[in-house]
Amino acid sequence: MISASIDRNTRKAVYRRDHYRCALCDSPKNIQIHHVIPRSHGGALNSEDNLITLCQHCHMLAHGQAPTNEYWASPEEIAQACVEYVADYYAPGWWPWKKGYWPCEWNGGG
Ligand SMILES: [Zn+2]
Ligand SMILES: [Zn+2]
Repeated sequence: MISASIDRNTRKAVYRRDHYRCALCDSPKNIQIHHVIPRSHGGALNSEDNLITLCQHCHMLAHGQAPTNEYWASPEEIAQACVEYVADYYAPGWWPWKKGYWPCEWNGGG
């Protein structure tokens, strides 16, 4: 399980914040937790502000494991949508912005 290391309370808090629906397509089915900034890019913390609720399908898209469709051209586009979604809740103090993960789009935008 991708989300096995996220504790129950954190998981519940994220689901609750996102109204138990996929943040991208609004589906309430097969919801899962996704890391907004992946571990490989410095987003190692299993904290609420780096987690987002996605349905199974959007989650697979986000990881490049499902074919893209008319809504989502690439996993990168989904990654950016996730960042924007979570940033809406936590801006302007959202910490991943300061990590330089999006140097082009987000530099200095915090
Ligand atoms: Zn979805
Ligand atoms: Zn994920």
